[in-house]
Amino acid sequence: VSNDAEYDLVVIGAGPGGYVAAIRAAQLGMKVACVEKRKTLGGTCLNVGCIPSKALLYASEQYEAAQKRFKSLGVLVKDVQLDLAAMQAHKDSVINANVSGIEFLLKKNKITWLKGTATIPAPGQVSIDGEVVTTRSIVIATGSESVSLPNVEIDEKQVVTSTGALSLEKVPEHMVVIGGGVIGVELGSVWHRLGAKVTIVEYFDRLLPGFDKEVSLNFAKILEKQGIQLKLAHKVEKLEKNSSESQVIISNVAGDHTETLYADVVLVSVGRRPVTQGLGLENIGVVLDEKGRIKTNEQFQTNISGIYAIGDVIAGPMLAHKAEEEGVAVAEYLAGQKPHIDYGLIPGVVYTEPEIAMVGKTEETLKAESIEYTVGKFPFSANGRARAMNQTEGFVKILADKRTNKVLGVHLIGPHCSEMIAEAVLAMNFGASAEDIALTCHAHPTLTESIKEAALGTQKRSIHM
Ligand code: FAD
Repeated sequence: VSNDAEYDLVVIGAGPGGYVAAIRAAQLGMKVACVEKRKTLGGTCLNVGCIPSKALLYASEQYEAAQKRFKSLGVLVKDVQLDLAAMQAHKDSVINANVSGIEFLLKKNKITWLKGTATIPAPGQVSIDGEVVTTRSIVIATGSESVSLPNVEIDEKQVVTSTGALSLEKVPEHMVVIGGGVIGVELGSVWHRLGAKVTIVEYFDRLLPGFDKEVSLNFAKILEKQGIQLKLAHKVEKLEKNSSESQVIISNVAGDHTETLYADVVLVSVGRRPVTQGLGLENIGVVLDEKGRIKTNEQFQTNISGIYAIGDVIAGPMLAHKAEEEGVAVAEYLAGQKPHIDYGLIPGVVYTEPEIAMVGKTEETLKAESIEYTVGKFPFSANGRARAMNQTEGFVKILADKRTNKVLGVHLIGPHCSEMIAEAVLAMNFGASAEDIALTCHAHPTLTESIKEAALGTQKRSIHM
């Protein structure tokens, strides 16, 4: 690649992977451009993912609390009503504030936003709708998109992906959610809180595969108590659509029982695939892995010199914070530094009510890897702050190495767990033992005291249980 290229780095895609890579590279003195085909910056995460879903989750949780929980706290509100248009307007304004924030950051860091769709005609070149720029390095951060089921056509009104489910103008009568992963349970929860009957169909025998089994079984019970119907170990045989309704024909995995669900909205949340089409990768010979993701080495280099890839388009969990870490790391590699990402310490969070959060290994993986461990558990029902909030469902579970007491995994289900998990990630990042956490003074009364108590529990020393 020529040394007199127009740019040091052209990043393709302005999601949390791409825009972060661009900013870090600019901080390190590179001349950077970022190509984005969407009208706004921020990628899936800011436009149709993390941020809008959390705006609706928060707002719908407040609506439900005003209807159901306030009363138990002695707060009486009459005639709680939903103004869905205003709730959607709140969501839109949150998106706008965030995407314009990224535009400001690109300007501040003197990064050129090349508007349009990028292809790579040759290493060292990026074409934006036919206009070619030259660059020393290219980072592909094109992210991922929803997949559907065979023979299921998405119209984003009646049969929707997460994108349509974030923008419904009316609360569905009955929403059938196909797929009980993170996106399915989050968006199913939103519409259930706002008044829809919700049925989640999941092929696996439990929700949230990948999370600790005890947490996921507990969560399923809580969702059912909230009134969400679960069809676990069921698969969709067929989806038939007429003008106002869809029929979802499901059967149990054993195959001896079939039933038909009628739904005015069907949310298909069965997974996401990397976006590699249309970049011209086949022409330049960039190799994909068996799952269609761009194959990279530990420095995010593809098999073609000067071309790198990060975020949802490569292997690893499809999470915004994972993409961001990789964005920083790839820029630092390009600058000759030696960054490091510990993939064992990427937290996973589900923003339902109660929230779920995890980091490190589950009990199932420890067993599979024949690692001996002890368990420390503490229920929020024994935590003073949780009682004060009247949110006592769930628990903290810490898995520690049996011999050394080093923390191997932390699993939370309960109020504000999305925030609390940071303590566990930090402790594990420093290689802490459960005792290190237990010896740390935690403010009283806080939910995080439950983490301290569970840490004590790994040595059977909990005080409040
Ligand atoms: P993306 O954010 O997908 O960005 C890629 C960008 O590249 C897009 O803007 C796209 O338009 C652009 N692009 C693609 N091809 C081209 C091209 N040829 N030319 C120019 N531009 C192109 N993750 C979390 O960590 N926490 C959450 O709470 C969370 N909630 C989610 C909720 C939903 C409903 C969804 C769908 C996802 C959620 N995620 C969440 C996942 C998160 O959004 C992704 O992991 C993250 O956005 C990946 O970042 P990325 O930069 O790799 O790609």
